[in-house]
Amino acid sequence: MTRSILVTGGARGIGKGIAKAFLQKGDHVLIADLGGITSWKYSLSKSSDLTETVDELSSLGSIKAIGLDVTDYDSCIAATEHLVEDTGSLDVLVNNAGIVDSGPIDSFSESNWDRVFDVNVKGIYNMIRAALPYLRKSQDPAIVNTASIAGKRGSANMSCYCASKFAVVGLTQSLAQEFASSGIRVNAVCPGIVGTAMWFDHLMANQGEERFNSAMQQRIPLQQPQTVEDIGEAVVYLATAKNVTGISMNVAGGLDMH
Ligand code: NAD
Repeated sequence: MTRSILVTGGARGIGKGIAKAFLQKGDHVLIADLGGITSWKYSLSKSSDLTETVDELSSLGSIKAIGLDVTDYDSCIAATEHLVEDTGSLDVLVNNAGIVDSGPIDSFSESNWDRVFDVNVKGIYNMIRAALPYLRKSQDPAIVNTASIAGKRGSANMSCYCASKFAVVGLTQSLAQEFASSGIRVNAVCPGIVGTAMWFDHLMANQGEERFNSAMQQRIPLQQPQTVEDIGEAVVYLATAKNVTGISMNVAGGLDMH
């Protein structure tokens, strides 16, 4: 059965890898991401990223794009309606949009704290409420949230991001219980370390890909960072496995094992 998939934060990075994996499976994909200038500590996606990703992946199958701000409920409604008008259903919601900030808590600004929670946690609340009427009508509904191994273990100077990702794990477990009788499965993927803008433009800014790869080789038991393809493959599994709900699955090369 061909399903209709909505991937938030799908213009680049892990979201793009997830979109690619569903296209290779033969599904319809709508990537939804910021389509304008939103200021943050590092650049987030622009409308040109959406267009370029559609151009790059369209040879694989049916892919479209829409501007979305997950912190704006009306924008979430518009994205879900767009997919249903186009394909007739919304079967899988992938809540992948996210931002990171780091630093000691005494100098961490309240506005950045609020913004991280608005995107990483409330954005999922908004998207699920917008998608639920359609998921309830789907023949094979699933939700996959992108959490993180930072949602299972705290780290110094990462309190805000870790707390937001612990919240995603809690949301995943709670909604898995809440929706089980409706047949909507809810799972999370917990990537370890993937070389995207979060690392290259913030966490290890200006250090280059070579330095990143050698640092990760030292740090990760399987001696390599994860790829966006690794995460895409896991998300397709979580969205497809008929008897799996409420799990937060690590794809982390052994960096976290619980
Ligand atoms: P990324 O910055 O390349 O991708 C994040 C995407 O989310 C961007 O395209 C950005 O424009 C979009 N986004 C941000 N705010 C948004 C909003 N308000 N509305 C809609 N879209 C918005 O980074 P990534 O690494 O690909 O991150 C994807 C997800 O993976 C995030 O949830 C992140 O927390 C999670 N994650 C990443 C890593 C890693 O090592 N890169 C590890 C664990 C988890």
